[in-house]
Amino acid sequence: MISVEEARKLIVKHSNVSRVISLPLLQANGSILAQDVFSKIDTPPFNQSAMDGYAFSYANWDKKSALNVVGQIQAGNFYSGCLSANEAIRVFTGSLVPDGTDTVVMQEKIRKDGNAIHILDDQLFTGNNVRLQGSQTKKGAIALVKGQLLTPVGVSFLAGIGIREVEVYAKPTVSIIITGKELVQAGGNISDGKIFESNSIGLVAALHQLGISPESVEWVDDDVAEIEEAIAKQLSSDILIITGGVSVGDYDLVPASLEKCGVEKVFHKIKQKPGKPMFFGTHNQKIVFGLPGNPASVMSCFYNYVLLAISSFTRKNYLKTLLLPLANDYFKKANLTFFLKGIASEHEVSVLDGQESYLLNSFAVANCLLELEAEKLDFKKGTVVKVLMIA
Ligand code: AMP
Ligand code: MG
Repeated sequence: MISVEEARKLIVKHSNVSRVISLPLLQANGSILAQDVFSKIDTPPFNQSAMDGYAFSYANWDKKSALNVVGQIQAGNFYSGCLSANEAIRVFTGSLVPDGTDTVVMQEKIRKDGNAIHILDDQLFTGNNVRLQGSQTKKGAIALVKGQLLTPVGVSFLAGIGIREVEVYAKPTVSIIITGKELVQAGGNISDGKIFESNSIGLVAALHQLGISPESVEWVDDDVAEIEEAIAKQLSSDILIITGGVSVGDYDLVPASLEKCGVEKVFHKIKQKPGKPMFFGTHNQKIVFGLPGNPASVMSCFYNYVLLAISSFTRKNYLKTLLLPLANDYFKKANLTFFLKGIASEHEVSVLDGQESYLLNSFAVANCLLELEAEKLDFKKGTVVKVLMIA
């Protein structure tokens, strides 16, 4: 049995395969850039007015006279003429500021007199209210660096500098196999020792939150032939998650079946609660998680370990970790790392009632998992603990 820390290290070590794919911007949103992105153009592409007003040359204005308005440039139009001394041209936000001009006076700060304007702004200086060509990006210069998380603002920025596709780290493909003779899908009949199956929807929902749709979800009986057939089929995915059947009961057939299918065990069992019997193995470049079937174990192991493997592929950090003081005393009954369902506020974290691994009612309202180190048993109120935010 290995420690939580060792388990994490081994998972990271065996999941360091990242694929780079080129995606259209919209699909790349939320991913990590796998390339430096260079601007295709200067932005703004021309000197541009920041205001509705009048453009003129500050140096060529004698400061005593009114300026003669010689025309107008609507945003999106081009002007090929060149202005002379004491001349101005009507411009709007986003209009090209033409050759021979360098300054824009706001329309609120002038007095109109026929075709002339008097400037009333004594704070106006050369270059005011003009966005210079290339002041955001220069053609050929780096606009965003490799490793940057692409946000909606990021893709908007890239679209504005003429980018349509970018290289990002690809999400892994994931398959799920659910084992258990006792399991019935919602809507079915659960008489005679059966229960409703709930692990698959929790895993699929958690994957959906990461933008991953599983390649397949398969349900199998506690039957060697069925389990092995499903494993052989699903080993084509980067990550295979199997729930149930990894412990020591007569019908816990998953570890032996995985081995039979060529999966090499990296570890089996972690010094933790819940999820002690967790299995982790590899098959070529693929990785396999065998999660103990109790619903709280499945989700706890997902957030603590499967997510770590997914992060290795995508280079993305999915969950925020905080250090918070305990709001109540907590006494641990074993020298295992405890992952407790809790409610974190800005200032402290409370442990919820109902921590047993068959329960989801407390987990369902938790916003975090607290991690209590293995060696210590007695945690006093105020002790600072590691908190993984899950909602
Ligand atoms: P196992 O790990 O297969 O020994 O299962 C441990 C406990 O979790 C048993 O009480 C199972 O009935 C329950 N369980 C296993 N798989 C599921 C599932 N997919 N949905 C709900 N409960 C499950
Ligand atoms: Mg089972």
